[in-house]
Amino acid sequence: MTTFDNTLYADGALIVGAGLAGLFTALKLAPRPVTVLSPKPLGTGASSAWAQGGVAAAMGEGDSPHAHAQDTEMAGAGIVDHGTAEGVTAEAVARIEDLARWGTPFDRDDFGNFELGREAAHSANRIVKVEGDRAGWAIMQAIIAQVRRTPSIRVVEGITALSLARENGRVVGVYCRKLGDRYSEPIFVRARATVLAAGG
Ligand SMILES: Cc1cc2nc3c(=O)[nH]c(=O)nc-3n(C[C@H](O)[C@H](O)[C@H](O)COP(=O)(O)OP(=O)(O)OC[C@H]3O[C@@H](n4cnc5c(N)ncnc54)[C@H](O)[C@@H]3O)c2cc1C
Repeated sequence: MTTFDNTLYADGALIVGAGLAGLFTALKLAPRPVTVLSPKPLGTGASSAWAQGGVAAAMGEGDSPHAHAQDTEMAGAGIVDHGTAEGVTAEAVARIEDLARWGTPFDRDDFGNFELGREAAHSANRIVKVEGDRAGWAIMQAIIAQVRRTPSIRVVEGITALSLARENGRVVGVYCRKLGDRYSEPIFVRARATVLAAGG
């Protein structure tokens, strides 16, 4: 990233947020250059590290992404978008495999298969875990290590985004400020593409 007149130029895409969503996106975009903004040091300030129960994916025998989507819609009682539920559940197994490939030590049985638990409104065993209740922490440790091994990803810590920057109706980056420095002049981070992954 280069600086000019309170403007930083992010090479390639800019990702706002360094939880699982932001870091996963950065890894998926590699080797394209990416800048990730993280207000706190990597691994802190993100709820991803607190997730305990595990991650749901229809990977058990007889299970299917469609059944997973149906359970999700039923549990949502009218507020779940059908297309999103079908899309997310269709991708879930492949994304768990990505996390495993990047070093997440998911719980396995003696044959190396994922151990699948059942939780909440799921009608099948489809929750993958790490040491019982350490999934979020373990996934974040694995993915942070992978990010640090990936030269195309630049992480900028200590900066928080304030608003989107627009030009001619298009998003061209974000206005930011150093974390905790409420009175400093906002910095404009310009980027060709901006991904918001700042949590829910
Ligand atoms: C206690 C707890 C238990 C949970 N258990 C489970 C579970 O068992 N299974 C499950 O699937 N899910 C669980 N969840 C939910 C899950 O953790 C979240 O859905 C997921 O981690 C969200 O990931 P994320 O990357 O979108 O957000 P986060 O991990 O919250 O990351 C957001 C990132 O954006 C940054 N950010 C925020 N605002 C700004 C800003 N203005 N500028 C720049 N950066 C910003 C944050 O600092 C952080 O780096 C749990 C959540 C909690 C809190």
